[in-house]
Amino acid sequence: MAHRVCVVCRELWQQGCVQAGRGSSPRCPVLRKFSGGVGRGQEVCSSDETIRNVGIMAHIDAGKTTTTERMLYYAGFIRRMGDVDDGNTVMDFMKQERERGITINSAAISFNWSSHRINLIDTPGHVDFTFEVERSLRVLDGAVAILDGSAGVEAQTITVWRQANRHGIPRIAFINKMDKPNANLVDCVRSIEDKLDTTPLITQLPLGAAKDFTGVIDLVTMELLVWGKGGDGSRFTRLPLIPKDNENRTGDFTKLSRLSELVKDTPLNERGMEEALEARNNLAEQVITLDNELMEMLARDSLEPLTISDLHLRGGIRRLTRGQLVTPILCGSSLRNIGVQPLMDAIVEYLPSPLERGVTVPESLKDLYAYAFKVSYDRRRGHMVYLRIYSGELKPQNTVHNITRKVDERITRVLLMMADEQKEMQSMAKGNIAVAVGMKNTYTGDTIVLSSTAAASASADSTSLSLEVLDLPPPVFFCSVEPSSAAYQKDLDHALSCLTREDPSLRVTVNEDTAQTVLSGMGELHLEIVHDRLVRDYGIECSLGKLQVAYREAPTVSITKEVTKEQTLGGKKHTVTCTLTVEPDTGGNHGDKPLVQLKTGRSTIGLGHSKAEILEAVVAGVDSACLQGPLLAFPVQNVGVSVTSLSLGSVTSLTVLSACIAEGVVKALRESCSQLLEPCTELVVSVPDEQLGPVLSDLTSQRRAQVREVAVAKDTRVIHALVPLAALMGYSTALRSLTSGTGTFSATFTHYEPVSKEQEKTIRDTFRGYSF
Ligand code: GDP
Ligand code: MG
Repeated sequence: MAHRVCVVCRELWQQGCVQAGRGSSPRCPVLRKFSGGVGRGQEVCSSDETIRNVGIMAHIDAGKTTTTERMLYYAGFIRRMGDVDDGNTVMDFMKQERERGITINSAAISFNWSSHRINLIDTPGHVDFTFEVERSLRVLDGAVAILDGSAGVEAQTITVWRQANRHGIPRIAFINKMDKPNANLVDCVRSIEDKLDTTPLITQLPLGAAKDFTGVIDLVTMELLVWGKGGDGSRFTRLPLIPKDNENRTGDFTKLSRLSELVKDTPLNERGMEEALEARNNLAEQVITLDNELMEMLARDSLEPLTISDLHLRGGIRRLTRGQLVTPILCGSSLRNIGVQPLMDAIVEYLPSPLERGVTVPESLKDLYAYAFKVSYDRRRGHMVYLRIYSGELKPQNTVHNITRKVDERITRVLLMMADEQKEMQSMAKGNIAVAVGMKNTYTGDTIVLSSTAAASASADSTSLSLEVLDLPPPVFFCSVEPSSAAYQKDLDHALSCLTREDPSLRVTVNEDTAQTVLSGMGELHLEIVHDRLVRDYGIECSLGKLQVAYREAPTVSITKEVTKEQTLGGKKHTVTCTLTVEPDTGGNHGDKPLVQLKTGRSTIGLGHSKAEILEAVVAGVDSACLQGPLLAFPVQNVGVSVTSLSLGSVTSLTVLSACIAEGVVKALRESCSQLLEPCTELVVSVPDEQLGPVLSDLTSQRRAQVREVAVAKDTRVIHALVPLAALMGYSTALRSLTSGTGTFSATFTHYEPVSKEQEKTIRDTFRGYSF
């Protein structure tokens, strides 16, 4: 039976689906949508089926920037290919990280490829931006992991891979740098098997090696894709290894070796042909074993696994990839312009469209349901809010409603970020990534709907409609920031308020005693980049104080206090008396927030205020008391507060109630709080075999590490350990010198742990007089 692939939805139809052709209107009879007729650089009809929202994840230096540049070039969006070749110095590393890996500094870049719109969403590479990666992952439908063909899976890839697992994101992997002398596809695939929790499917083999690497063998279609030496790589030759004797190209691959004259001018020799044949069979077998649909089809049509057509095989790979059962592996060399176009084809082919990955949208919010995953500041346009639209349409000159902050927002312009230009749009529909200009109160992580009425009719509690599911990780490092002259303080405050809008993992507080501004963030690099942006983007000369680890304080015993507060406000006397107990609480399922309980019975509640209002005021009081603990003024956590009796005067304001509760909690904490907690990280270090000893001994003797596991992967060792963050200060320099630059690591905050008594003494000496 004849099969065709629909150009719109890329599905295999058994009959009647018209392919795109000159003069014909390509219309998929199933989807009834128009999509074809697009060339390089032209607008693609952006129905959901033709959109791919993908991220690129890579360890630093694997080739993310180079590959992205090539993609934009082949898609016709930049005229000159960029070159990132400026060496491996620390400054370059910093600079690249600052530019976030993509030359055109943007959170999402759209371009058209093969009648589809690909939205490339940037996922920052460094672990300090783990949180930003999380936000990007939230809006991705698929991802490409780029690996260095000579290094295999590196530490940061493991971290980001795990994050992508948590978000259930289908992935493909591109083994880059196959032109390097020590690049090895099989070793890389083995490292994927060993270190990442997935089944790799080798869909391409390299053609030639090192400097003779000239192309790839596409195991799905059984074609050689050969790039000529030099040039920009936009042209390459497809040499079929099997005759195209019917339109499905169902071939008997067992006859492959007889066709060798077809490829006599290529580096593919007899042995290469045999390897290709074997790899094709392995691929077919792997896919058939995992994909029920193909298995059933083979049984029904009495076909042999070896003769399965490329269309059927591709369908199987697509289903398995979208179901996250496998990761298709492709290879190439972005620098030498080899293998990038097939990678773009694979994005379209294997990764899902937004249709397959949507979120459940409440009925009354169908007109607009969008998530702000990034806010960036542009000097000319002001704040640009990147929105993933899950339902409905976004239009300029419209007022929308921010559920998270309960405010209306006016959108003046809607933009599509088309590589190096921004396209003004009259509307953008679901599935897309849009940039809204004009929003004043929207922060990263907010949910946007059409109106407050729509939100209210969807649910009484509009915050429950919010798309944000991520808990903000606690800032684990802090330092003071000081302008070079007091005259800059106002500008500094303004700039910091802009920066916190873009990046909610940055927190800004003011030390009440010294009036110093204090920045808290996720790591050394994070705060350095904030500093860099203050200087570069906002033109404020300022310096950062010494970087410190942000500790926490916790109660160890239960203390009960009774407090009475009397205050005269507006000529009226406000009186509150309360009894409360502060106790340790390590239940932990309410984040680092105190657990507050009202156990007062009916009698004391309800004098002019509802129970909910009273609870809110009590929580506000507890929260403010826990901001600074009694030991070293660090925030208090693992704390439970129960209010057991409460009596309010008939006119007592809730502000006085909050103040009374805060006073009681502060008093109780003074006696109850005696434990310092420190942030701990899960550290993953990859080192060459021979350097394992020194690295391990440094970790255990110098850095208080608890080593959990040392995994073996060919000639590298991967150490997994729990390490206090304080002990990791300056670790990148130390690891570099221990391993002559070959070791890599990534550290992710996991939890707080009590510090030992000796440790506590050192910390107290360091921080005495420093108020956080
Ligand atoms: P990123 O840090 O992941 O963005 O990596 P870059 O794209 O900046 O590349 C890092 C370094 O690797 C640069 O020196 C590139 O020229 C080099 N590079 C990138 N792709 C390839 C490749 O395919 N082969 C080789 N040999 N080098 C490459
Ligand atoms: Mg880069």
